[in-house]
Amino acid sequence: MSELGDEAVEQLRALLRIDTTNPPGNETAAAEYMAGLLAAAGLAPTLIGETPDRKNVIARLEGSGEKAPLLLCAHLDVVPAEPESWTHPPFGGEIHDGYIWGRGAIDMKHMAVMSALVVARLKREGVKTVRDVIFAGVADEEAGCDHGSRWLVDNHPELVRAEYALGEAGGFSVRMNGRVIYPIQVAEKGAVWMKLRATGRPGHGSMPRENNAVARIGAAVAKLAATRLPQHRTAVVDRYLRAVAKAQPFPASALLPRMHHRAVANFLLKQIPDKGVAAAMAAVLSNTAVPTVLRGGGKTNVIPGFAEAWVDGRSLPGQSAADLVREIHDVIGHDVEIAVERDMPPVEIDPQSPLWDTMVAALKRHDPEGVPVPYLAPGFTDAKSWSRLGTRCYGFMPVRFPDDGTRFADLFHGHDERIPVEGLKWGVQVLYDVVRAFATDTAIAAGPPIADPPISA
Ligand SMILES: [Zn+2]
Repeated sequence: MSELGDEAVEQLRALLRIDTTNPPGNETAAAEYMAGLLAAAGLAPTLIGETPDRKNVIARLEGSGEKAPLLLCAHLDVVPAEPESWTHPPFGGEIHDGYIWGRGAIDMKHMAVMSALVVARLKREGVKTVRDVIFAGVADEEAGCDHGSRWLVDNHPELVRAEYALGEAGGFSVRMNGRVIYPIQVAEKGAVWMKLRATGRPGHGSMPRENNAVARIGAAVAKLAATRLPQHRTAVVDRYLRAVAKAQPFPASALLPRMHHRAVANFLLKQIPDKGVAAAMAAVLSNTAVPTVLRGGGKTNVIPGFAEAWVDGRSLPGQSAADLVREIHDVIGHDVEIAVERDMPPVEIDPQSPLWDTMVAALKRHDPEGVPVPYLAPGFTDAKSWSRLGTRCYGFMPVRFPDDGTRFADLFHGHDERIPVEGLKWGVQVLYDVVRAFATDTAIAAGPPIADPPISA
């Protein structure tokens, strides 16, 4: 069994036991843990953050400098877990049924561990690289990156500046009609966080009135939630659908590349038996706007003068916050005001690059049947920050899931988050091959997986 894989399993279990629920985050303990792992390999990690309890950890494997750095990045915070809904404790790092269970197992402490171990291994082996390989374990991604990647880019860009980055999200296996595809993120939607506000005549709760602010905001969000916004054709989704179509039987193979037509999309989305896959596909065809918070009034017998709904909007590449606001007004009318509270524009790169070729070669080597496809992520990641430094960011955190019905999309922010033990061991080997080949400027040869390289230190 692979030593690198075994180490990944033990390190991930330990990291999962450090509770970094955001809010409040408290990532420093996790950053220190990662720093210990890196220092043990002879690297000199930096712990740095805006406040003592929100530290980031950065380590650099120095290369010849012939080429610009590669950044391996992962956020160390996790979203909250409700332990009563979990089969095994979310901060236990326990192994059951072939899986390591815990909040952060796939989002994304596994990538933190895999990346740090790859850098540590290259250091121990004394591998001569043509570019620096930087590891960044960052705070606060789940709350918008203010203490993590965004802070680093604004205050210490020299620590994290890179030509390419590998991070969230992509590289995990997805089963579609019996074929395995590996989506690799090359773009992500923008995030537009909005407050919708309805006003009305305040008064006594004993006296019904027509323009009740609570009722008006309720009607607006109900309408918004029931409506799929207009579709927009994008190059990245066209490429994705064409690539997926090649791995599908007829008629999906013929229909998928035509999903930019609304009628085809409506038809096909209904046919996809897997509702999770259908939802993920619908999300990349349109801008979206999801009501998440309602606020209004404070007393049963008082009609308030206003009521609010907070809406999580996501915009496609090529679409602005103003475009999205216009589409929402078209659905709910103009009686409700929309204020944009936060606007994080979409990110997109041209997928074609030597690093892309390296990832594809490594996936082919370790899963000859798998089909790598470039993909647009509906969510946002630290790529929003890194790309401000001109970095080309790919979402690539390889994990192979067994054919047991477990799916990445269900586990992400879900109850019972877990990662397959064998899939993690597979992933760290794939990542090692990619980083080693790319950082040493060598091609990955086709053929069966090679045995784990021996440790020379
Ligand atoms: Zn994440």
